[in-house]
Amino acid sequence: MKVFLIAATLVLSLSCSTHSNNSKLAPNSREHQISAYLWQQTSGEYRALTYQAYNIAREKIERELEDKHNRKRAVVFDIDETILDNSFGGAREIQEGLSWKESHFADWVKLKQAVAIPGALDFIKFLVERQVEVFYVSNRRIAMFQDTLDNLVAQGFPVKKQNLMLMGDDHTKEPRRLEIQKKYSIVMLVGDNLSDFHIDFEKKSVKDRNALVDKMQKDFGTKFIMLPNPLYGDWERALPSNVEKIELLKVTP
Ligand SMILES: [Mg+2]
Repeated sequence: MKVFLIAATLVLSLSCSTHSNNSKLAPNSREHQISAYLWQQTSGEYRALTYQAYNIAREKIERELEDKHNRKRAVVFDIDETILDNSFGGAREIQEGLSWKESHFADWVKLKQAVAIPGALDFIKFLVERQVEVFYVSNRRIAMFQDTLDNLVAQGFPVKKQNLMLMGDDHTKEPRRLEIQKKYSIVMLVGDNLSDFHIDFEKKSVKDRNALVDKMQKDFGTKFIMLPNPLYGDWERALPSNVEKIELLKVTP
């Protein structure tokens, strides 16, 4: 095993040093990105997971509604890769050999072509029927408000303008959640990123994020509903930026 590890390390370091000075890394990296986009756009497994998330969410809310109390209930949704699929915008960038930048995302938002994620629309309509208030708390910028509203409405989502809460100067969603809590009891949060659920997940290392997930494990599938997102997320920002990603891969548990 030791010999294998030394050999593997040598191969990895050789390939890394080759890649760092060689444009061949780009096509490989692009190939992996394409696989992630294809998984979201074409796989039945992706759809099954989104339906699974929304089926569990509905069951939990049905149970919650059996508990009679006078507080007004709210469910808080993230937007991107939670109720809207943006993979088409990213796929265009890949086809043009570009990487996904914020300015490109702004151009994509203007097109208003994101589509509803399987299961999201039915669940949100169910909430509205049951008088549960629906909030959309997204880190799309406030300048994107009208395009986002138009896109959501075109996809059939019921949206009250005052319940569409986009990002101002503050990256964290916590103040917006606290604002909602002044009037409502937040009974569920739905997202694709850990920071969609709780402030404690923000700006943490890989190790700390995972320890927190373990600590809060009972909240997943009950209060926190997680959607799959193979394309991007805070998990990437948690990785050390000064090393090649391949060096972070573990070859033993
Ligand atoms: Mg998201």
